[in-house]
Amino acid sequence: MSSLPRPSIWRARSVLLAALLGLTLVLAAMLAYEAHDAARSHRATAERALRDYAAVAAFELAAGVTDDLDRVVLPLITPLTGTRAVTAYERLPAPSAITAPADSALHCGNAPSDAPRVTFRLDFRDGSFLAAGTPLSSAERDGIADTIAAHARGVYQSDWRYAAIRTRIGGSDHIVFYSVKYAEQLAPIAAFGFTACADALDAPAFAAAMRRHALLPSALVGAMANDSLLVVDVFDAAGRKLYSTDVPAGVPSPYVGEVALARFGGVRARASLRPRAVEALALGAMPRSRLPLLLALLALTAGMATVAVLQLRREHELARLRSDFISSVSHELRTPLAQILLFAETLSLGRVRSESERRGASDVIVQEGRRLMHLVENILHFSRAERRMTRLAPEPAALAPIVRETIDAWSPLAVAAEVAVRAELDEDVAALVDARALRQMLLNLLDNAVKYGPPGQSVLVTLSSASRDTARITVDDEGEGIPTAERERIWTSFYRLERHADSSVAGSGIGLFVVRELAGLHGGRAWVETAPSGGARFVIELRLAHFESGLEYPTPHVRRHPPVNGHPPDA
Ligand code: ADP
Repeated sequence: MSSLPRPSIWRARSVLLAALLGLTLVLAAMLAYEAHDAARSHRATAERALRDYAAVAAFELAAGVTDDLDRVVLPLITPLTGTRAVTAYERLPAPSAITAPADSALHCGNAPSDAPRVTFRLDFRDGSFLAAGTPLSSAERDGIADTIAAHARGVYQSDWRYAAIRTRIGGSDHIVFYSVKYAEQLAPIAAFGFTACADALDAPAFAAAMRRHALLPSALVGAMANDSLLVVDVFDAAGRKLYSTDVPAGVPSPYVGEVALARFGGVRARASLRPRAVEALALGAMPRSRLPLLLALLALTAGMATVAVLQLRREHELARLRSDFISSVSHELRTPLAQILLFAETLSLGRVRSESERRGASDVIVQEGRRLMHLVENILHFSRAERRMTRLAPEPAALAPIVRETIDAWSPLAVAAEVAVRAELDEDVAALVDARALRQMLLNLLDNAVKYGPPGQSVLVTLSSASRDTARITVDDEGEGIPTAERERIWTSFYRLERHADSSVAGSGIGLFVVRELAGLHGGRAWVETAPSGGARFVIELRLAHFESGLEYPTPHVRRHPPVNGHPPDA
């Protein structure tokens, strides 16, 4: 038997192992959290960057449209308003000084003839409004004058070089470009401007800007067209859609940026990235969440730690059981050994006074020797069963003689315990059995009946054929019986009922395990029920052999194991 570690060392080892496992679990949890946190912040950074790119795209679009307009508008207007007036009373040039804007440059390709090309001057000092170019009705003149006066007063910023507003002239939308001329102290003295068709700040203007300007850094997106990278929508101040990319190339992503062009009447440009742009800008697909993987890893670590702790506990329990087993077996072996020694000494010292005393002493020695042999056989069976090396030599045999012989050999022990044994045996029952194993099973049950039954009880052993195919042996005692809940557990090794575990009745908890193991190897079964007396009835069922019928004997379930290291397993 291998040596067992001392309990204190055991406990220290278990605590150390449990602590290490706990630490592993905590570390795994921390690592999982850190990895998750890193992935989350990586994702958040990437998302922030993508939203910034969308904002940059919207800004670039606004800047592109502004650039396009600046290129046409500034040369017309800056000569008149680009410098401050020396005095507030300066004479101002006529509006015709603004050369008429080129339609093509302002994208009036759709309806050039509809666009009244008017240049105007609104003098803030006396309120006079002068217009040149296509004649206007007085209502139209007043409308333009009022619109410009209100806008210049309320919206126009002194650092703007010009502004554009959408207004209706002659029943259709127009864009009015104008610039304020300041005198010293930023005193506004007049506004110079001209009208253009609505296209100047409508879909064509934005479509042209989309074509002409790269809205995302070409170092990242290469030569891909804006349309395939972005969904762009432009709204006027009232929320009306002025322009929208209508390329149905994929769904827009949630990465959206928006820019308002205050100088152009609050027009808003909104850009959202398409998945292709997300891929190009995030240098590959957006990092996927690793949370499920991390959780699985954590669960696996927790599972492994749990299994290890359970294994540890099991090992601990086994070690305890083994140590209990060793002490109870030694205890069981000691009693017959002490008796043998006592009577052997009596004989060897010649202390017997008569022939009958001498016979009595040698009977005790034989009896206790048998008992010892039975205990040792049990241990051997148990250890073979544990190593799955039990081998049986079954032969067809009548069972009654074997049972009777076993009871007879055991009866002196029964007499010593004041137990009466009754046997009701059907002489015709025969089965394929290993007689030695059957004896061992019976002796275990008889021993238990005496150990756990009251003195003076009577034990009944029966042998019958329960059905056409089964022989049944029962052993009834008049003890307290086995509680229903324990009727399965008592067959497991080392298990003893609580009321017996701490009692003076010696036992090691392997007897019933051996009974069931041997019954199973015979292709039979063993169980316990309640005897009519209220005590325990242990039942062994074996497969019957039919001698008379000439049938083949049923082959019992015999475990055969290959020789170990070339040697046959011990018999
Ligand atoms: P052991 O008798 O050496 O303890 P066994 O495996 O033979 O081991 O029995 C297991 C346990 O089942 C016993 O410890 C006892 O608690 C209970 N037991 C067995 N036989 C009887 C019986 N005839 N009556 C009451 N309890 C029994």
